[in-house]
Amino acid sequence: MSGAKAVREDRLWQRHAEMAKLGGTPKGGVNRQALSPEDAAARNLLASWATARGFSIFTDAIGNLFVRRQGSDPGLAPVASGSHMDSQPTGGRFDGMYGVLAAFEALEALEDAGIQTRRPLMAVAWTNEEGSRFQPGAMGSAVFAGRFKLDDMLGVKDWEGVSLGEALAATLNAAPAPMLDAMTGFPLAGYVEAHIEQGPQLEAECKTIGVVTGIQGSRRYIVHIAGEEAHAGTTPRSARKDAFAAATRVATAMYEATTDQDDALRFTIGRVEVQPGSPNTVPGKASFTIDMRHPEDAVLDVMEKTLLEIVPVRAAPCSARTERVTNVAPTNFDRRVIELVREKAERLGLSHMDMPSGAGHDAMHIATLCPAGMIFVPCERGISHNEIENATPADLAAGTRVLVEVLLELANY
Ligand SMILES: [Zn+2]
Repeated sequence: MSGAKAVREDRLWQRHAEMAKLGGTPKGGVNRQALSPEDAAARNLLASWATARGFSIFTDAIGNLFVRRQGSDPGLAPVASGSHMDSQPTGGRFDGMYGVLAAFEALEALEDAGIQTRRPLMAVAWTNEEGSRFQPGAMGSAVFAGRFKLDDMLGVKDWEGVSLGEALAATLNAAPAPMLDAMTGFPLAGYVEAHIEQGPQLEAECKTIGVVTGIQGSRRYIVHIAGEEAHAGTTPRSARKDAFAAATRVATAMYEATTDQDDALRFTIGRVEVQPGSPNTVPGKASFTIDMRHPEDAVLDVMEKTLLEIVPVRAAPCSARTERVTNVAPTNFDRRVIELVREKAERLGLSHMDMPSGAGHDAMHIATLCPAGMIFVPCERGISHNEIENATPADLAAGTRVLVEVLLELANY
């Protein structure tokens, strides 16, 4: 029996249903925030399934949970697959959890089919991907990859003042697993993450598999505009330095400049502040945020240059300054992994399309360590971060079949 044929759709679906009970909400979603008692329960459930199949489990200093299936050459670096088990406060049952359960199903399918790999294979649940309780998100994978410092993260507090270190200790107490000696990550030979798309493209194009080419880069700015406060009744237009009017001119010019033909550039003004905020005073100050995303850094460079040119010209006669707050470079996944995903989907007779990921994922950090890639499957109407998030058992199984075949290639390489 091949690895893909051994994937059991019913078992994978049943495991989703069981996990969805942990932190389950009345509307059918989940509230399983990072390092909560519900998170601990999910860890225990995964660990119990792993132990029952004879797989070993262990955790690391940031609480990433690893399930390991031994390879014929145990000294070789393992190949890993996984995602996260934490959710948004009103999250769905598939975001993250699918990647963990698909990875676990891959291990089980190989076990059922009696297929031995050269390299060990691991299913991993990264700690705190969502970043809703403790910020920033994708924390477990970032610490593993050495991109965030462990000590800094342990000191992060939630809204109630509980530190991540305290919550982690409580979680590992409730869901114990053998602790890895190393403070951060270990070498991996490859990483593949399965995830629901969280967008509408696959459904719209009637495709089952998204061959994820990378994760788009994002940049965030604040535009500060300074005008002059004046009386709303007595000041003629020619004498005004209206900071909000200047802000709208900049915004309008930027909406136009960012209207690209292929609809790939994401441009959002999500927060505007106007001062002094009085109905009968011409605003003396205005500031607004810009969130800009695109798969290519070069495009973001061009748009940043455009922004820096537009701001002073359109803001006049007010003065203006543009502050760049964050700059996260795009992730380009490994060419061989991308090709493997495409090739295996094709061979399994599954419709597929290449696409970048609009959202961030743990894979963006792990891609700095080893050849990495992602597999997307459709979710209903593209809705995610919502309790009504939904996917079909057949699509989840299809993505897992591609995953098994890709993992087999990587683990025997
Ligand atoms: Zn996710």
